[in-house]
Amino acid sequence: MWTFSKNGIHAQDTHAEHQIEWELATKALITKRYVMLQLGGQLYHTFAASMFDDPTLWHNFRAAIIRNFIGCQGCKYDLHGTTSDTCPECGKPIDNVA
Ligand SMILES: [Zn+2]
Repeated sequence: MWTFSKNGIHAQDTHAEHQIEWELATKALITKRYVMLQLGGQLYHTFAASMFDDPTLWHNFRAAIIRNFIGCQGCKYDLHGTTSDTCPECGKPIDNVA
């Protein structure tokens, strides 16, 4: 089960528990199937779409990463604090990643 909050990500499954604070993450890379978060200058923590049972959760997770670390893929607009699924500046879907 994955939960996303203002503070970070919490994941619990039968194998492990992950707690990742947004403030510890320094950089994010994103593709259609993977999200990589760099934590405190250490190795990237990789999340794969296959780790998520529910496609909606995966979508929400990627959208949270894009809002917090990457910004609009179209116009580079800063998406911090936005809740819409599209960029308020150029209208491009936030989850639209090449
Ligand atoms: Zn935009």
